[in-house]
Amino acid sequence: MTIKYDQNGLVPAIIQDATTRKVLMLGYMNEASYKRTIETKKVTFFSRSKQRLWTKGEESGNFLNLVDIKNDCDNDSLLIQVNPVGPTCHTGTDTCWKEENVSSYGFLSTLEDVITERVANKDTQKSYVASLFSKGINKVAQKVGEEAVETVIEAMDDNDELFLYESADLLFHYLMLLQAKGFTLNDIEKELKTRQK
Ligand code: AMP
Ligand code: ZN
Ligand code: ZN
Ligand code: ZN
Repeated sequence: MTIKYDQNGLVPAIIQDATTRKVLMLGYMNEASYKRTIETKKVTFFSRSKQRLWTKGEESGNFLNLVDIKNDCDNDSLLIQVNPVGPTCHTGTDTCWKEENVSSYGFLSTLEDVITERVANKDTQKSYVASLFSKGINKVAQKVGEEAVETVIEAMDDNDELFLYESADLLFHYLMLLQAKGFTLNDIEKELKTRQK
């Protein structure tokens, strides 16, 4: 891999969780630390404060196990994808920006937040979500059942447009049921991961 090191022989390395895609930390590498990283499959930086090679986790045990290294468009920064053994920041947080290292599902996560907000505001006149929740958890569960049946019917009917429509209904109501039971998509992801061989 062609890497353009700067005048100090360093290249910035963005460390990203290979699964959640969260940025965990930023470090600098020189050629020796890059080679060490490839050899040991544990991310090793050149520490500017210690002025020596520093394998992340050497004291804490919170190693960054190497998955992949990507060069950027002009070879002057690295994206390093890892599986972190523990919290990456020495302050104990998952990332150096005080974020939790959990997956984000983009628009679906936004939708989860909207549902939370509607439930909290209890405006049953204006909000479908609030009004359904006010009828109790069994009503929410029943709606999931209905939408599931509708999805199955459209799947067997071979009508793509209606199948997509009912699938969206199903997913939306399923997000509400998850929330009503006190869970999120991250809990489902955790469960599915335990089943991976
Ligand atoms: P570790 O490599 O996790 O054993 O940590 C050894 C030392 O490196 C810590 O005591 C900190 O001084 C420093 N350190 C560890 N993690 C980070 C980090 N994410 N960002 C900056 N410095 C760190
Ligand atoms: Zn660049
Ligand atoms: Zn940190
Ligand atoms: Zn429907």
